[in-house]
Amino acid sequence: MNKIGKVVIFGGTHGNEMSGVFLVNKWMRNEETLKERLSSCPVRLHIANPEAVKLCRRYKDCDLNRQFSEKNYNLAKGGSDSLMYEIKRANELHEMILNTPVNEKPQIILDLHNTTSNMGCTFIVSSTADIFTLHMAAYAQIKIREEGFKCEILTLENMNYASTRNLSEFGLGIEVGPQPQGVLRADILKIQENAVFYCLDFIDKFNKGQKFSVTSVSTFGLVHRVGFPGLSSEVMIHENVQDKDYQELSHHELVFRTSSDKILSLKDVVNTEVLSNPVYPVFVNEAAYYEKDLAFWLASLKSVMLASLEVKI
Ligand SMILES: [Zn+2]
Repeated sequence: MNKIGKVVIFGGTHGNEMSGVFLVNKWMRNEETLKERLSSCPVRLHIANPEAVKLCRRYKDCDLNRQFSEKNYNLAKGGSDSLMYEIKRANELHEMILNTPVNEKPQIILDLHNTTSNMGCTFIVSSTADIFTLHMAAYAQIKIREEGFKCEILTLENMNYASTRNLSEFGLGIEVGPQPQGVLRADILKIQENAVFYCLDFIDKFNKGQKFSVTSVSTFGLVHRVGFPGLSSEVMIHENVQDKDYQELSHHELVFRTSSDKILSLKDVVNTEVLSNPVYPVFVNEAAYYEKDLAFWLASLKSVMLASLEVKI
């Protein structure tokens, strides 16, 4: 594989996820901090959704992190004034990435997010076939765990939802929580910052010729969405599941309480076929998913073998 030519860091893809907004603004004021970690290629910083950041909302008109599609780029090129802001912004970011000089390719995107769920530090990778990004996530995962913080890798196989990771060959979502929307927590910020530093360390070592050996990594993959069984104002996630992201969930575990004091177990709301293998809840009670009627995802766990990785000189 060729040397990485450029790293792009996005904060504020969702305007109320404050760690990324804070860090990108901080590093823009002092870019030396990042050069100390990564001297072998440039790092470019962007507030991805500045209008949403101004409003301190997830988005202005629609979720930016679902708009990176050819269909939308063509719509934006049509130049209609009535287009939603995030469709125009996705096209601007796409043009910026496309117009990168050849000597700065391939480029990698690090996209910083927060979740209200108790997911610790989650590295989101689009595909288990992306060996480079998985090696990087596995390297950073070891470091984050050494600091005593929960850290997992989530792959979104066959779930292309037109995210920022679509913009370049390599893309990593760094999702850290729990943190309420619009709030900064110092402990969460530290982990978010260190996660970026470890990724930059990895890229620098790779660019300078370090070989990364064959290794296996455990990755979670989303298998089933669990919606609220009724209005989310009348049903809540049971305390036995709250904060239990990445912990195996038995079929008999209680997962919902209703306002009429009814209690539902996992097997009451999910069919047995989904439960034929062990399942693990993720994004439990994520505030941003209430508008999608989504209570949590169920994930499966698998081991992925990574071939060795070395820069081609
Ligand atoms: Zn987000």
